[in-house]
Amino acid sequence: MARILILGGTAEAAELVARLAGDDRLETVTSLAGLTRLPNASGRVRRGGFGGPAGLATFLKDERYNALVDATHPFAAQIAAHAAEAADIAQVPRIKLVRPPFERTEADRFIPVPDMEAAAASLPQGARVFLAAGRREIAVFTSRPDLWCLVRMIEPPVSGEKLPQGELILGRPPSDPMEEEELLTQHRIGWIVSKDSGGQAAAKIVAARQLGIPVVLVERPAPPQGPQVPDVDAVIAWIDRTLFAPP
Ligand code: NAP
Repeated sequence: MARILILGGTAEAAELVARLAGDDRLETVTSLAGLTRLPNASGRVRRGGFGGPAGLATFLKDERYNALVDATHPFAAQIAAHAAEAADIAQVPRIKLVRPPFERTEADRFIPVPDMEAAAASLPQGARVFLAAGRREIAVFTSRPDLWCLVRMIEPPVSGEKLPQGELILGRPPSDPMEEEELLTQHRIGWIVSKDSGGQAAAKIVAARQLGIPVVLVERPAPPQGPQVPDVDAVIAWIDRTLFAPP
């Protein structure tokens, strides 16, 4: 039976595991970065870092994996680079699933920036901003006390965690742009800051388009060299070709 390690933490990784679950030619293990309360993964799971590329290479060899699927988030640049290096060392075939960035239309008012620091610096004095970003990333906005920030987090802040000035709401992003439009209108939001994550995060981008709100868009880090595909179907086709094609 073929063994596949899936580097996860994304909706696509969870979908891939679910789609492969009935295939008795293979077994999957999902790797997650740490102990999140909402891991977004089913099936067999392992948690925690590998200790760099050499650690991951050793893990792949010792556990006799036949393939590595890097289905991590497009902004998880370090684990992507480590996966590429480890697969080379261990001589295990690797594929990177890179979901497409947000669609661009003429109605979008995107302001591309290289990182969150540049995003924070680009906002006008006193702006009312929706910060659609992770807790690590929003920290930089505490240096802009003139802004009013609407922050949405999935899990509540830990005690002592410093938040930008404004309002905090808890919950997952909705998939319906109308819900995002209501939220933005209700809070009189004039600016959005978002990473160019693509995928399920698109509702806020569509809402911004409808309302004509500018989006300061943090550009993606470049993925490592090597094969990449845009969706779960293409990963499954790659697995079939790589592991099960007749010689
Ligand atoms: P990162 O900066 O690229 O990686 C930091 C370190 O965390 C890696 O060097 C690795 O440690 C460990 N790590 C990361 N992903 C791992 C995984 N799936 N399994 C085992 N170890 C992992 O990663 P990040 O941006 O913090 O993202 C962490 C996780 O959250 C990823 O699984 C990603 O898919 C998910 N996620 C990230 C974002 C985002 O915006 N960055 C958004 C949604 C979900 P070692 O070097 O010790 O192996």
